[in-house]
Amino acid sequence: MKISVDTESCVSSGQCVLLAPETFDQNEEDGKVVVLAPEPPEGEREAVRQAELTCPAAAIRLT
Ligand code: SF4
Repeated sequence: MKISVDTESCVSSGQCVLLAPETFDQNEEDGKVVVLAPEPPEGEREAVRQAELTCPAAAIRLT
């Protein structure tokens, strides 16, 4: 699994951080998503899938 995000689309809602805090963080200035682990460990992958589905801006892409 590899993660890519569209920071232009991100609306700084923070759901991804709540769901997968070891993979996602938010920029302190504008709240935009920051990917901490582009290739998340097995134990975090289901949470990352949930983040992809939950993101209100559809800004998270998994490949
Ligand atoms: S859930 Fe989506 S819109 Fe919200 S901070 Fe994460 S990437 Fe941005």
